Amino acid sequence: MDLLPAQLLRKEETKVKENKTIGAVTEAPAPQRKSDNIIEIKGITKVFDGVTVLDDLSLGIKRGQFVTLLGPSGCGKTTLLRLIAGFETPTSGEIYIEGAPITSIPPYKRPVNTVFQKYALFPHLNVFKNVAFGLKLKKIPDPTRKKGYRKLTKKEIADKINRALKLVGLDDYGHRDVNSLSGGQQQRVAIARAIVCEPKVLLLDEPLGALDLKLRKEMQLELKKMHEDLGITFIFVTHDQEEALTMSDVVVVMNEGIIQQVARPKSIYDEPKNAFVADFIGESNILSGVMEKDFKIAFLGKSLTCVDKGFEKNEKVDIVIRPEDIRISAGHGQGHFDGEVLTSVFKGTYYEMDVLASDYEFTVQSQTEYRSGEKVSLEIVPDSIHIMKKILTINKYIGKVTGENAVSFCGGEFEMPTDGFETGDEVLVYVPFDAVELTDYESDGVIGANVTQSLYKGTYYQVQVYTDTDEDFYIDTADEWDPDDRVGVKIDGAKVRLEKYDPDKDETEAAE
Ligand code: ATP
Repeated sequence: MDLLPAQLLRKEETKVKENKTIGAVTEAPAPQRKSDNIIEIKGITKVFDGVTVLDDLSLGIKRGQFVTLLGPSGCGKTTLLRLIAGFETPTSGEIYIEGAPITSIPPYKRPVNTVFQKYALFPHLNVFKNVAFGLKLKKIPDPTRKKGYRKLTKKEIADKINRALKLVGLDDYGHRDVNSLSGGQQQRVAIARAIVCEPKVLLLDEPLGALDLKLRKEMQLELKKMHEDLGITFIFVTHDQEEALTMSDVVVVMNEGIIQQVARPKSIYDEPKNAFVADFIGESNILSGVMEKDFKIAFLGKSLTCVDKGFEKNEKVDIVIRPEDIRISAGHGQGHFDGEVLTSVFKGTYYEMDVLASDYEFTVQSQTEYRSGEKVSLEIVPDSIHIMKKILTINKYIGKVTGENAVSFCGGEFEMPTDGFETGDEVLVYVPFDAVELTDYESDGVIGANVTQSLYKGTYYQVQVYTDTDEDFYIDTADEWDPDDRVGVKIDGAKVRLEKYDPDKDETEAAE
């Protein structure tokens, strides 16, 4: 094989992200004792048909919390939930509930219950019987019986059902045909059915996804109230960031099967750990910058004071500035950047404006309106500049020299100087972000790939593409590409650096 797939490099990346994640967990106010965690997910990997959907993921979930798994479609949220529920088995890793491993325990024996987006109610049963379904099968310990357990009595079942229906606001609906209920009511029946068996953990897979916006908002509040009343752990899946921020004690932001950040909603918004989280959560201005020294950040040709320290001198970083944190005033010369308003839209309680300054289109929100064409100044106070470590600064692959000035990696043979190497040598290939070119037509590139992300970083777009050999390429480009665009990938070989590949050394490094 002329290359090792992404695993080695992915592990390096995962390592960085995990460390950050662990750091974020400590943002919770109370110090965590091990016993606080009702669920421990340790090193879970899930591979479907050769594709890694969850990549060495670890997470602790505290008892009684409302935890939301948030991320774009396909990032692996539902898969993680299904692994906890027992509908899927991990490829590797283990999940513990209350300290006990559960991988070999079937779903119905786990102390969890799931509410799905599609309510999955029995259409031929009324509300009462739908909720009763799980209870009729339930066995409770009874030392007076020979078997050590017994089934619930009719009265016990009825009491439990009535309590559950009351909790979801459907006290008098027991006799109703489920088909006669609205979407919101059907969803409540599904929730009642899940909580009636008194699970320790309730898993909710986009339970509000099928509801219209108004009902969805109402149900969000109701679910939160139910969580408080029940006092059990909720693990909620959504791709809606507003929903996640509104409802949760803790938000777990995921992308491509990897946890990006675990924190309270406010920290996720105010202190995003990387450019992905910043972009995914709310409106942001994301820029690239250089940390000149402690408390000094340079971007868009200016050097500004910030509140961050501890970076390497001149380390490249990502910067997030929220639109509501930028102070805008009329005329030039009043702030850090002089600009011109491009567009201005009233959003109900504030104006949202695009302001062109230093060749960057800032998004700015203000109570005061500045009209299109107006000259303005933008001031950015130290507190509002959020600095984030760049996860990767260069693309790195393992390849093989296949001839004079030819190196094979990521499923293609690329042209580049191979001085000092011989045909057959294994090499580490370092490809700067600005050495990659994307082409509209796949056939114009050396290999084909799919665009997975496009982030505007001030003066350029940082685009991420995923190759057919399971590798990521990051590209700095002036062009915007849409997620899911199929593109060709070319490389400017003159900018690439080769290094001898030493499997022992590089794999040890990756495993550490
Ligand atoms: P969404 O918000 O769209 O539901 P998600 O984050 O919940 O997305 P998952 O449903 O966990 O994502 O899917 C993650 C990836 O795993 C997707 O690419 C999906 O196609 C794939 N996948 C999930 N289940 C299976 C399966 N049983 N067989 C093969 N691939 C699967």
